[in-house]
Amino acid sequence: MSGRPVDAAALKSVLEGVLGPEGCRFDPAAREPFALDGRVPEAVVYPPTPERAAELLRACGGAWGIVPWGGGHRAEIGPPPTRYGVALSLARIAEIGEYDTESLTLSAGAGTTLFDVDQRTRAHNQMLAVGWPWERHTLGGLAAGNRGTPKRLAYGALRDQLLGIKVALADGSLTRFGGKVLKNVAGYDMTKFFLGSRGALGVIVETTWKLFSRPDHEVYLWAAMPSVDAAARLAADLLRSPLLPACVFLLEPKAAQRLAGLERLGDLAGRPLALVGFDGRAAATRRQTADAEALAGKAGGEALPVREEIGQQAAGYLMGELPSEEPALRLRLGTLPSFSGKAFGAVRSALDDHGCTGEAVADYAAGRLTLWADAAESAPEALRGLTETLRKRLAPVDGFVEVERAPPEVKASLSLWGDLGGSAKLNRVFKEKLDPQNALAPGRLPGVPGEF
Ligand SMILES: Cc1cc2nc3c(=O)[nH]c(=O)nc-3n(C[C@H](O)[C@H](O)[C@H](O)COP(=O)(O)OP(=O)(O)OC[C@H]3O[C@@H](n4cnc5c(N)ncnc54)[C@H](O)[C@@H]3O)c2cc1C
Repeated sequence: MSGRPVDAAALKSVLEGVLGPEGCRFDPAAREPFALDGRVPEAVVYPPTPERAAELLRACGGAWGIVPWGGGHRAEIGPPPTRYGVALSLARIAEIGEYDTESLTLSAGAGTTLFDVDQRTRAHNQMLAVGWPWERHTLGGLAAGNRGTPKRLAYGALRDQLLGIKVALADGSLTRFGGKVLKNVAGYDMTKFFLGSRGALGVIVETTWKLFSRPDHEVYLWAAMPSVDAAARLAADLLRSPLLPACVFLLEPKAAQRLAGLERLGDLAGRPLALVGFDGRAAATRRQTADAEALAGKAGGEALPVREEIGQQAAGYLMGELPSEEPALRLRLGTLPSFSGKAFGAVRSALDDHGCTGEAVADYAAGRLTLWADAAESAPEALRGLTETLRKRLAPVDGFVEVERAPPEVKASLSLWGDLGGSAKLNRVFKEKLDPQNALAPGRLPGVPGEF
């Protein structure tokens, strides 16, 4: 199913007209992996260059819903598209172009994987500072998804690292925003506007990033804390101290137990965990880790042996990916960092109120908390009630709750983004200007209706 009926013969003729049969797939086995909430596209296309991607959009003329795809790891976020004729994979637009090791900038096709960027920059002792290398995610998906970098304390947010983009717009034009230098903006900074645009404003075909020197050392201190409040106090103390952590995460006891299993941290006896990471020179990271250990001790915590890396599954978990089958609901909560301790309390009581189970991790510095939750037989009313209760409890502190993953019937009956304030209007203005026929990822841009 893909919204209103599609004239399959017309679609095939247009797509093959631009890309040839080798650039298009129509068989179910090729299309099914691109399903969104049960909606399977009529075709999957693989344009080989930005120019052909743009040409394809022009040829489609707004007739079919087109959803851009990177690695597909965060494709589930958002409502299903209201029309879904074509999944446009960026897999073939995946070349690393200009890499300037002197000015630390790199331009690459949007389908380039983070693994490839990591390999290429490693040879020059440089890196794209998005935390931990994770493999099949793409540069375009990173920009269009904008889910926040774990080490923003050390390297800044994604918005500071993305210098420029080239975009294929719905009318078939190719446009460049931003540039390859750090100060390149006069007027409205459109590059930033495409961050988090979820494929609904244009197809990002090329990205330019600011790189960083690779740190000599990464050090991770895990501390088992007596309570979530003590863990939150430790995090606040760390950020007030002269120490310069790269990341600070907090895990309530259930999440701590899962992570302890993944990282073999031993028996935590139901205690929450704090994770503090430092990047830098060996002597400096050693000294900072010792100081952080002392702060953890003062807060009643027990520092576990220091590690020099985080396992892939643990890193994925901290960034919102469960290693096994996910529970029905994944929420992303935004709060002030100083409210994190209380947010864990709000989560626990809301879970109890609605008969749900769950586990939660907070990226303290970003003020973001991921909650995985479920109810007996994934009862929709319990999952809906949990989401609404959390929204009410976070509203007084200007917090927000986004629904990242939910059963289709829950998704259909809830606002997935909550109150968007002024950004809903801005999104609509840009959507109507850049994609007046609503061809790109229709219905997926926060605050913009599926049909207009
Ligand atoms: C260990 C780990 C670390 C992570 N660190 C970060 C991090 O530092 N920062 C971060 O933001 N996220 C991070 N994530 C989250 C997530 O992986 C990213 O958002 C990710 O880059 C998604 O990439 P993808 O290629 O799978 O995108 P997809 O899931 O394919 O796409 C995501 C969204 O973007 C749209 N899209 C994809 N490509 C394009 C394109 N070329 N043009 C227009 N729209 C497009 C899609 O339609 C979809 O709506 C991390 C995840 C893990 C597991």
